Amino acid sequence: MLVLVDLDDTLCNTWEAARWSVLRLLPHLIRKGKFKALLYILTQRYEELEQSRELHLLDLDELVGNFMERVYKSTSEKDLKEMFELVDKTFFSNLRVYPDAIDFLKGLKEIGAKIVLITDSSSEWQRKKLEYLNLKDYFDSLIISGETGYSKFEPYNFILAKRMFPKEREIYIVGDRDDTDMRGGKEIGATTILVRRGYFKSLMPKHADYIVKDLKEALEVIKHEHKKRG
Ligand SMILES: [Mg+2]
Repeated sequence: MLVLVDLDDTLCNTWEAARWSVLRLLPHLIRKGKFKALLYILTQRYEELEQSRELHLLDLDELVGNFMERVYKSTSEKDLKEMFELVDKTFFSNLRVYPDAIDFLKGLKEIGAKIVLITDSSSEWQRKKLEYLNLKDYFDSLIISGETGYSKFEPYNFILAKRMFPKEREIYIVGDRDDTDMRGGKEIGATTILVRRGYFKSLMPKHADYIVKDLKEALEVIKHEHKKRG
């Protein structure tokens, strides 16, 4: 059995931690007199970023840089560095593994599953999160978009995961996002399990075989399906 697992908003509260970082940035921008950037954030123009590829491939410092470039033509290196450090510090001090994540990963191990992390963003940032959250050792392999050059909007990384474990015919994917995790899982014939949490939880999924409220339920679904296939 092969189980592909998403990281952000599936195993940890990335969206929540990112929101705290943005909030923490607001008083900083006021103090620095950067009102255009402040307005950009308050009017939520950054939502247009959400569908962009860069959010899935770039590092946090590059995202902060790109954001400021969108609002101003140029920002000093010193200002950017200050903003990045503030965002990074706030992000990691608010980042948590969801309470059901460890039991989920241990439960998968117990039933003999190979577990592959399949995640979008830069190598440095994703590995830093794994290190900080102490999650790395649960995985048989890590597939990170910043390392393969393909995001989960494309089938490449899903096919790669399948090829890494050619003997495993029973494949599951667990993630929070329909148009990447679930759709990608379908590309390789996986059973797709959507966990409703994080930023995308209110969207209607199109590619999910199962919709669950947490990882405890996701594990039950996998065990049930596994038994059925005998
Ligand atoms: Mg996610």
